Parts: sequence; structure tokens; C-alpha cells
Amino acid sequence: MSLSPASPTARALPPARTPRTTRAAARLLAGVVAVAALTAPTSSFATEGGAPAARTVTTTAAADWPTLRAGSRGSSVTALQYLLNSRGRSVKADGAFGPATTAGVKAFQKAQRLAADGVVGPRTWEALVTTLRGGAKGPAVKAAQTLLKARGQAVPVDGVMSAAVTAKVKAFQKASGLTADGVVGDRTWAALLNGGPSSGGNRAALARQILAQKQIALATVHPGGKHAGSTARQNIVDTSNGKGALTSPWGDKPNRRVPLDPRMLNGLLKLRTQYGYRISVSEIVGGDHSGTSRHYAGIAFDVNYINGRHVGSGAPHKQFMAACKKLGAREVLGPGNAGHSRHVHCAWPR
Ligand SMILES: [Zn+2]
Repeated sequence: MSLSPASPTARALPPARTPRTTRAAARLLAGVVAVAALTAPTSSFATEGGAPAARTVTTTAAADWPTLRAGSRGSSVTALQYLLNSRGRSVKADGAFGPATTAGVKAFQKAQRLAADGVVGPRTWEALVTTLRGGAKGPAVKAAQTLLKARGQAVPVDGVMSAAVTAKVKAFQKASGLTADGVVGDRTWAALLNGGPSSGGNRAALARQILAQKQIALATVHPGGKHAGSTARQNIVDTSNGKGALTSPWGDKPNRRVPLDPRMLNGLLKLRTQYGYRISVSEIVGGDHSGTSRHYAGIAFDVNYINGRHVGSGAPHKQFMAACKKLGAREVLGPGNAGHSRHVHCAWPR
């Protein structure tokens, strides 16, 4: 149990509004939402290399590519060098972005009709990477293996996408809040290059996707106190800007910043894009919770409205709670659980 019975989230909160979108953007989003509603829940939207409809849904969440330039160092540079090799550019894979790498990048950019500035940003990455599936071979596989290894997934760098490597890709995807299909597509490449779940790159991208969903309302107030910096909406905005989410200055713990867990962010997003729910999120790390609450660990959210109905007053909370569990939440509480008669709490494992 994460909330005391007197918790402010137990009180009614009107669905939060997101007034930022222009009318044109709103129309576009409405179209995207309509696609989501039509194909949910059987299709998996975030599956890379999926049907065109899936691409439409994920365009707002383009992969979050890092920028590498002369002087950069590390496993991302090694991966870049292997990817250049996979495109016929002979560059030594030594992890140091020196003059030879710059020359290789420029030649590749020129051949692709990109600005040949030697800086590796989103357009160059998109042209360089290739979707890898089980059985793939060659330098691009070495690039992925180098990154997997650097992100804690022990694999050999032998250029073969074996079943063991695919299993490690899945483990990485799962930890990063990506669809765990074992296929290395744009979003997995970007997450690998960004350093995976601990880097913040992927969580920022997920937060931007959540902000783009008009049917995920994020509270801009707390029912039980005033602190603009820790509302659900501000938690997601801060995360989208690469910052930690702020807890509230009241309750059992001091006010501090907490990184939001990509698994939780991914679950929240999929409740909309995969299951089609219209959601109002009342709290994430803000609000007043018990000292040991998963909210303070960035792995929980509270939802008080589902499909326009308040939880406890006609909202389909049982189905919603089952969906949370399918998305990986393990502590799922709602009406019938102490302190949760008016909201659903979904939390992921620590
Ligand atoms: Zn909660």
C-alpha cells in the first residue's frame, strides 16, 4: 500500500488539460489517436519495422540519437566505426573519433547526399544503422554487440546475431522500456547508443511521446497542497527535458529529483497507444505518499479518471488494472484495496 487513506489523490480531480497544442497539431494527433483506437489492442505499436500504421503512431517519438563529433570517445564511437565499415568505409574500430573517422563520416554523408560536416547526428545515424534480426552477420552486428556489452549485456563481439545475442537484445529492450522483440531497429539503436536505461535518453523520448498524447491528461495541480514543481505534468515535462522528476516538499521524504523509470513511462504510454484508454494521471513522484512508496522511486503512477469516468464511479478499473499488470506492473491497487477507492495505482518492480 502506498498511500495513506487520507491521501490527497483520493479526492476528485478534474481531468487535466494540455493546452499547448495548436489546432493543426491537435487534428494531427486526433488522427494518430484514431489510428491507435482502430488497431488496438492486437497490434504492437512500438514494434520496430512494423506496419505503416505503427510508424504513423511512433513518428512523434523519433528515436533520440546522440551527436558524435571529432574528439568523441567510447563504445558509441566504436559502434559508429563498425557501422561505417558496414557501409564500405574502412575505419579502424578503436573508439576514438579522430581524423580518419571524420573523413569516413564525411565520405559517407556525401554519398548519402547529407550535409558533409563530419558530425554524426540524427540524419546520419538513420542512414548508417540497419535493422538487425536473428541470423544477421557483419560489422553492423559488431556495432550492436559492442553497445550491448557496454550496457551490461555480456555478448561476444563476433559479428553474428545468434540466438544468445537476440536474447540479450530482448533483455536490453525490456530494461529500456522498449518492445522486447529482439530486433535492433532505430529506437533500439538509439537507446543502445545513448547508454540505455540509465542515461536518460530513452526516458526523455518516452516522456515526449507521453506529452504528445492528447488523451493522456497529466494533472497540473495537487488536490492536497500547492507545489507546481511536482505535478504529474511537470514530472513528465522535466523528464522530457532530461531532468529528474521532482517530489513534493511535504510528506515522509525530503523534496528531491528522481529519474522516472522507462518501464513505468512505457507502461503509461501503452495504456493509451496499445490499450486505447483515455487516462488522467493524478500523481507520479509528487504528492504525499508513505515513506516506502514506489512513487518516490519513480516506478509508480496514480490514475483517477479512465475513459472520462472517475475511478470508483463507473470507470473500468478492473480491465485497466489487468492491462497495467500485462505491461509489467506488479503492485496494482484500486477500488477494494485500502486507500485506493478513488484511484488506480500501478507500480513496477524495484
Ligand atoms: Zn499510488
